[in-house]
Amino acid sequence: MRYIDPQLVSQNLPNGWDEQAQEAANAVAAAQPQDRSAEVNRHGEVWKDLKDTLKRASNDKCWYCESIDIRSDNAVDHFRPKNAVAECPAHEGYWWLAFDWENYRFCCTFCNCRRVDQATGQDGGKADHFPLRDENRRAHTPADNLDDEEPMLLDPSVPADTGFLWFDENGQAVPHPICNGPNSYPYKRTEASIRFYHLNHPGVVDQRKALCSQIRRRVQEADHYFKKYSDNDGTARAAFDDAISDLKGKLAATAPYSATARAMLMGLRGMHPVVEVILNT
Ligand SMILES: [Zn+2]
Repeated sequence: MRYIDPQLVSQNLPNGWDEQAQEAANAVAAAQPQDRSAEVNRHGEVWKDLKDTLKRASNDKCWYCESIDIRSDNAVDHFRPKNAVAECPAHEGYWWLAFDWENYRFCCTFCNCRRVDQATGQDGGKADHFPLRDENRRAHTPADNLDDEEPMLLDPSVPADTGFLWFDENGQAVPHPICNGPNSYPYKRTEASIRFYHLNHPGVVDQRKALCSQIRRRVQEADHYFKKYSDNDGTARAAFDDAISDLKGKLAATAPYSATARAMLMGLRGMHPVVEVILNT
């Protein structure tokens, strides 16, 4: 997960989208409570029309896991679920946010849909989940203040949230060491996010692990060429530059799993001071 600047969405709303969203919101607000869910879904084209904008904001990557899967029909996830809340059966869903672009996240099938891994037996996928630290503080109506809620899920549109997620060299998503132990709120939020966004689904872990191996090899090569370069062997300079460019590219906003690449490089810099050149550019 890396930070997605909401301005990349707000500044690129399609012509007429605001008006379309407002009309749909008015229709849902005017509906009887028992008809609201159907009315929300009847206007599904509103969030579907924003999918390309949301996708471009993250360079085609899932906002939660940073994967790019061209075979998957990624969806627009409502961060606060629009029709129901799994943690609170009496809740009608945050229907009043169904057409609010600030509640949208571009999201892959694995992060969005509930499923059980055949290999591990573990379930994951966000679906209608929106756990809070204190259920009594949940907003139930448009008049309730969302700032009173204490969400358990990390939000890619909040810079501080994305910093709590870390990755080990085996590709596993873990809470960042700064989270201060299993009883801290940031640690529990990160743990919940790993589970509900399905961040340790075996397929994605394998891809992150392969990336970590590539980075380790490339850093060793950079080390090798840097020693020669430092010993005034000019022929090593181009190879060193290539290795640094390649590694730098893995941190780019366009690169899949760039947060994993960053964690891996941060972990290697003690043993390989040459990594400072990458982090310092
Ligand atoms: Zn995802």
